[in-house]
Amino acid sequence: MSGGTDSVQEGCVFCRIARGLIPSDKIYEDGDFLAFYDLSPQAPVHFLVIPKRHIESLMDLAEADRNLAGGLLIKARELAEKLGCAGKGGRFVINCKSDGGQTVPHLHLHVLAGRPLCWPPG
Ligand code: 5GP
Ligand code: ZN
Repeated sequence: MSGGTDSVQEGCVFCRIARGLIPSDKIYEDGDFLAFYDLSPQAPVHFLVIPKRHIESLMDLAEADRNLAGGLLIKARELAEKLGCAGKGGRFVINCKSDGGQTVPHLHLHVLAGRPLCWPPG
């Protein structure tokens, strides 16, 4: 899998978190992924899973990123399970670009759980 911190963007907050330059409340880390609690939690459980490699958004995923994209989802499921969210589930969200409400331009998957979440989003 392509990974590591070989592709980082200096001004990117999540690249900086991935390199340990900005502290975060880490849940999991390996060569390809990092998971940490969201700074502004919207549910009792709210964490983010990111690829360490800088990919701006879901729209920037390439065919070659197939394994990375699958790995991101599987890691989110694994961690949600570990945090006791398997029974009631939760919401697994990727906001994409301006209409999707993406505020940090580094691909990330939100995991929100621990309370019922309304649908549809506004
Ligand atoms: P987006 O709106 O791009 O889908 O989500 C970005 C998320 O990153 C937001 O929920 C925001 O609270 C979180 N966030 C932004 N900066 C930081 C940070 O420095 N540390 C952590 N832990 N979360 C952050
Ligand atoms: Zn980045």
